[in-house]
Amino acid sequence: AKEAGKGVYAVYDRGMHTEFNERVVIEKHLRSALDNEEFELFYQPQVDLLTGAISGFEALIRWNSPVLGFVSPLSFIKIAEDSRLIIPIGEWVLRKACHFMSGLCQQKNNCYKIAVNISVIQLLQDDFIETVLNVLSESGISPGCLELEITETVFIESFERIVGKLEYLKMQGIRIALDDFGTGYSSLSYLQQLPITTLKMDKAFIDPLSDDSYSQSFIRTMVSLGHEMGLEVVAEGVEDSSQLVILEEAGCDKVQGYLFSRPLSQRNTQELMRRHKLD
Ligand code: C2E
Ligand code: CA
Ligand code: CA
Ligand code: CA
Repeated sequence: AKEAGKGVYAVYDRGMHTEFNERVVIEKHLRSALDNEEFELFYQPQVDLLTGAISGFEALIRWNSPVLGFVSPLSFIKIAEDSRLIIPIGEWVLRKACHFMSGLCQQKNNCYKIAVNISVIQLLQDDFIETVLNVLSESGISPGCLELEITETVFIESFERIVGKLEYLKMQGIRIALDDFGTGYSSLSYLQQLPITTLKMDKAFIDPLSDDSYSQSFIRTMVSLGHEMGLEVVAEGVEDSSQLVILEEAGCDKVQGYLFSRPLSQRNTQELMRRHKLD
């Protein structure tokens, strides 16, 4: 692109020549995205398999750039992390999610869990604990309604420090989910050392469930392991009812996926909950 603005857009549209160019362009527009209010939070319901009712939501960020259009978090989160822009963006997500959930819980006179994805860059910040506790008290939701979703990679970064922080937050009553469980390299012995409350089984293990008996016994093993350790077990990426039947048989606690709902805008989440009965 020789010129700014439209020129950049045209090049982007045709596909980037190199990954480097794409990163530079995304980062450039990411810098002003928060101030320009280009982010939106979507909410994907989690269903409790015992009651059949919605028990909570995962907050998922959406970016509609006036220049680039909709950019998937799969494309920009890594760039936000490398540029450290994830720190203000992640704080915005946390605050927005907790405030929204506070309103919803009051309206329904019920406590819903809100799960928020947290990057290792945020966790490593000196004031991370303070930020989380501030957001909790500002929004008025109880600590048990907040679940921080982290991936196994956070533990290679700086094991002692991260474990210490998560332990503290867990002691305050905040829930900690190990996201994408099974895709990393956690050995079972190491899993026991982690201050977590929830195992989130990755979609990669849910996908083959309907037609593969090995994956079925694997899921049963993961669920029993989680329960043995006193953890709640959540399945993500549940797309069809045959997967659901197997997860129910395996004793999985909660499910999330397109079978129940795609991630919804705030407005559509409110609409869904207006119709949703408490069981
Ligand atoms: P994730 O945390 O593993 O989130 C689950 C992803 O699977 C979401 O993609 C969700 O929309 C999608 N999904 C849910 N159910 C289904 C299903 O049944 N089928 C299929 N095919 N997909 C399903 P999304 O929203 O594009 O987010 C992608 C990733 O970006 C997330 O993966 C997470 O790692 C990251 N991310 C999203 N929002 C945030 C955020 O606010 N902060 C941070 N740090 N990362 C975020
Ligand atoms: Ca997640
Ligand atoms: Ca996940
Ligand atoms: Ca994932």
